[in-house]
Amino acid sequence: MAAPRLEIDLDKIGHNARTLVERLGTRGISVTGVTKATLGSAEVAATLLQAGVNGLGDSRIENIEAMRIGQPSAPMTLIRSPMLSQVQRVVRCADVSCNTEIEVIRRLSTEAQQADCTHGVVLMVELGDLREGIMPDDLLDCVRETLNLPNIDFKGIGTNLACRSGVAPDARNMAMLTELAEQIETTFDLRMETISGGNSANLQWALSGAEIGRINDLRLGEAILLGCETLHRQPLDGLYTDAITLIAEVIEAKVKPTLPTGQIAQNAFGEIPTVADRGQVTQAILAIGRQDTDPCGLQAPAGIDIMGASSDHLIVESNGDNLSVGTEVAFQLNYSALVRSMTSPFVTRNMKPA
Ligand SMILES: *Cc1c(COP(=O)(O)O)cnc(C)c1O
Repeated sequence: MAAPRLEIDLDKIGHNARTLVERLGTRGISVTGVTKATLGSAEVAATLLQAGVNGLGDSRIENIEAMRIGQPSAPMTLIRSPMLSQVQRVVRCADVSCNTEIEVIRRLSTEAQQADCTHGVVLMVELGDLREGIMPDDLLDCVRETLNLPNIDFKGIGTNLACRSGVAPDARNMAMLTELAEQIETTFDLRMETISGGNSANLQWALSGAEIGRINDLRLGEAILLGCETLHRQPLDGLYTDAITLIAEVIEAKVKPTLPTGQIAQNAFGEIPTVADRGQVTQAILAIGRQDTDPCGLQAPAGIDIMGASSDHLIVESNGDNLSVGTEVAFQLNYSALVRSMTSPFVTRNMKPA
């Protein structure tokens, strides 16, 4: 079979999604299944919808367009603020988008009028992580103008934590989101459909028995695909952490010294490596590199250690098995390695069940 390739077990992904949908359901929270790490995979999209997610979320309109082909009527949310240069595509393909700039929402309104459709808007609020979000003091003004824009359907508010600064979702920032929701509803005499509390980093908070307040949605990607929460990257009870693996093939296997010979200057990536002399080792090279994945995000099977990587070569040492030429090795991936493998044209995918 072709290598390198991702082995994607759709049953395991479906199980993870269903389990989270059920657990959060008991707390009154629905799941938006985030697909951005799968390059708009039609199979993953279908699997998540079958598992009971409320809708799909993706940060790229290209992925939403790709998923739309197989899912003409599934609710899809663009979870990154639309680019002005893409607003026309956004109103055509996404039902809802997350927004932080009124200028963009005005343009969405214009394009939605032209396309004779309505476009849903969730306003993202800054609650401390300092990535996207309207400052809380500016929120009411933004809601007011959004409500007045033709062909725009104000859906609710959301926040995103733990992405840039690692700010953990907790009782304080989640209560603030609830408070802002109530303030909006009182001021404008309306009931919001969506109060989206965050991403996979919110799971500990959401499942801890904490006061949920008005939060009724989480946007989950990594927890579904990799089976872990994302504050400490701990596996989640009852979820598969091996739904996706990356297979690479050995192209050289030799016993070599650990110490390089000659004067040491920069390597291909501007680093000056320092190595300890451990004598002779059993080294293998796999045909995969920084063009295909994030080598730092790979976890090798027991008995194999990753020693280094360049654009096209991954160097490993094995302390047992002889990794002969042609052998396939299966790696576990973190999110960074997963996203890069999914978007590399050199990495194929094998979906189970196909
Ligand atoms: C990526 C992303 C998510 C999903 O994050 P996970 O950690 O994969 O659950 C949710 N919301 C926004 C805005 C995102 O960019």
